[in-house]
Amino acid sequence: MRLVIIGPPGAGKGTQAKLISHHFDIPHISTGDMLRENIAAGNEIGTLAKRYTEQGLLVPDDIVNCMVEERLSHPDATKGFLLDGYPRTVDQADALKLILAKKGNNLNAVINLEISREKLISRIAGRRICENCGASFNIITNPPRVSCICDNCGGRLIQRHDDNVDIAATRVDVYMKETKPLIDYYKSLSLLYVIDADRSIEQVFEDICNKLECDIE
Ligand code: AMP
Repeated sequence: MRLVIIGPPGAGKGTQAKLISHHFDIPHISTGDMLRENIAAGNEIGTLAKRYTEQGLLVPDDIVNCMVEERLSHPDATKGFLLDGYPRTVDQADALKLILAKKGNNLNAVINLEISREKLISRIAGRRICENCGASFNIITNPPRVSCICDNCGGRLIQRHDDNVDIAATRVDVYMKETKPLIDYYKSLSLLYVIDADRSIEQVFEDICNKLECDIE
């Protein structure tokens, strides 16, 4: 299975991506996570990426394309993958097509998580991430059992720097301008699976699995 999950920030891409990759036993490849790892390592890519991510802007296409091409060359990606947060522009989608074509592959499906703009900002502002294992919670829609503590590993829950309300609004604007055109792009290729993301995590996941299993497996 070669899958992409797209949707505005706050739609629940990361949460669903983890569930899908586990269910179908394919690697979850998140460009946001990869960029944050580079930023934490303080390397050249990280230093450059930080300038964009901390403003809620997109990191230049060539950097992200190279990062994804390298990651897709790892052996675990031969059995399939789920790309989360990539592509985010039409140019990135074209680049992905080429990367896959070089291996004689193409995508099987693009999952589009749909949710209204009004819901997004409050969802983003409520998000908390475990600083130890990266698990994601939401103080309103998916709270941890003990406040500020990760259910999985007991790590401390923190708010991502770019999850504050001002940067979140910029990220949603960037999504509308740069990423939303991908919906028509993938619709025209008959790859798009539209999912109503304004439901519980379990309901959204069940809907995704039903649609994918019905068509692809
Ligand atoms: P995410 O964790 O997917 O919300 O991504 C966090 C931030 O990383 C975004 O706001 C962008 O600054 C950057 N980023 C992640 N993926 C991409 C991408 N495909 N293209 C450009 N920038 C990206």
